[in-house]
Amino acid sequence: MFVIGGGIIGLSSAYYLQQAGHKVTIIDKGDYTDNCSFGNAGYVCPSHFIPLATPGIVWKGLKWMFNSRSPFYVRPSLNGALLDWGLKFIGSAKHAKVNAAAIPLRDIALLSQDEYRSWTNIPNFDFGYEHKGLLEVFQTAPVAEHAHHVVEKAKSLGLDTELLSYEELQKLEPQTKMNALGAIIFKCDAHLYPNKLMTGLYNILRNKGVNFIAGQEVTDFEKVKGSISKLITAQGVYEADEVVIATGAWSRRVAAMAGVRIPLMPGRGYSITLENSPYRLNHPAVLMEGRVALTPMDGNKIRFGGTMEVVPTQTPPRYHRVEGILGAVKRFLPEFDIPMPSHDKIWYGYRPCSADGLPYIGRAKNCNNLVIATGHAMIGLSLGAGTGKLVSELVDEKKPGVDLSPFRVERFG
Ligand SMILES: Cc1cc2nc3c(=O)[nH]c(=O)nc-3n(C[C@H](O)[C@H](O)[C@H](O)COP(=O)(O)OP(=O)(O)OC[C@H]3O[C@@H](n4cnc5c(N)ncnc54)[C@H](O)[C@@H]3O)c2cc1C
Repeated sequence: MFVIGGGIIGLSSAYYLQQAGHKVTIIDKGDYTDNCSFGNAGYVCPSHFIPLATPGIVWKGLKWMFNSRSPFYVRPSLNGALLDWGLKFIGSAKHAKVNAAAIPLRDIALLSQDEYRSWTNIPNFDFGYEHKGLLEVFQTAPVAEHAHHVVEKAKSLGLDTELLSYEELQKLEPQTKMNALGAIIFKCDAHLYPNKLMTGLYNILRNKGVNFIAGQEVTDFEKVKGSISKLITAQGVYEADEVVIATGAWSRRVAAMAGVRIPLMPGRGYSITLENSPYRLNHPAVLMEGRVALTPMDGNKIRFGGTMEVVPTQTPPRYHRVEGILGAVKRFLPEFDIPMPSHDKIWYGYRPCSADGLPYIGRAKNCNNLVIATGHAMIGLSLGAGTGKLVSELVDEKKPGVDLSPFRVERFG
């Protein structure tokens, strides 16, 4: 069977499918050394039960559109895919829909976190998994007010969460001066080092006999009697019995080749990693008003990530967005004096953003042998291991570990 896409969703799917006894081939247009699953912030975060599409973000997005250093940007265009996605995004950004998403997002995140925890027992597979919680640090009264509601909501979902005063926050990070009013600590969250996760998982799959095809883009499918019979690339044609599409930000086009419509746009984000950081953080932290994510990882490293640019993947990178990230870091952590790095030290990747912020996971209705697993937006790393397990259950027609109806592939019609 074929898994198309070697990001965290594709590799995790291959892991569980191979375990279930399938002979798996993964095919990727890249070489398995970089994609969105490498340079991200590494949060494994049941706390992220609020999807990207919220009433607030639509208005903020409009306001930020004209600021080149802003954390959220949609390039205005008459592109049909963007218009379709944008209208559905606005339609999803309603309180009732945001509330309805909380339980499904919590359940799949907890399932995924359990799977990652179980992976820490795999011999010789160190991916820097640590369960220390996640801080959401805020500076202004309106965000502090909102934090109260978030903590109440998280508690009602059974997630271990507390509101911290400035003094309590500073006690957790005594070595680093914080400019803040306070923070939420989500004790339910963990983090890991994505680069080690991805390379380690690749090696495990190789050793288990999973076949990898690199540098080949699937450009079409041949279908016979409502099933995909062949995958077509510029270099070859491959017979397929079962197919998983896990092609991240490119999935709209790949799914359309199989006759499946999923509204999805790439959401570009940037990160930089201080390899031997002179600065210290004990906990991963989101700087709320700056929309920046910081993660201490793999010993002395700290990664700084952020921005969401909804742009086609061919758009040249806008490196000055990183100035916006570093500016926010300085406002919250005045001792963190980080010069703008050279372009080759800046990583960027494309999040696969569904129109409502929930992933698309399921069997395609009009294609018998196709499972789709994509659209995880800002939480694809977090939901990676769990999604892989669910994909294998779907392929084997087993009862999935969580209710998959909120993630239905055809939910937008
Ligand atoms: C700055 C930043 C910070 C983030 N932080 C976090 C975080 O802390 N926690 C979290 O959970 N998530 C985070 N994310 C989001 C997360 O990284 C993504 O949701 C996740 O990596 C998506 O994984 P994927 O496997 O779907 O896609 P990818 O990792 O992009 O993999 C898709 C693969 O499909 C291949 N492909 C595409 N089309 C084809 C084709 N036609 N033929 C063959 N191959 C194809 C691509 O080459 C690629 O390798 C962050 C993202 C960014 C940008």
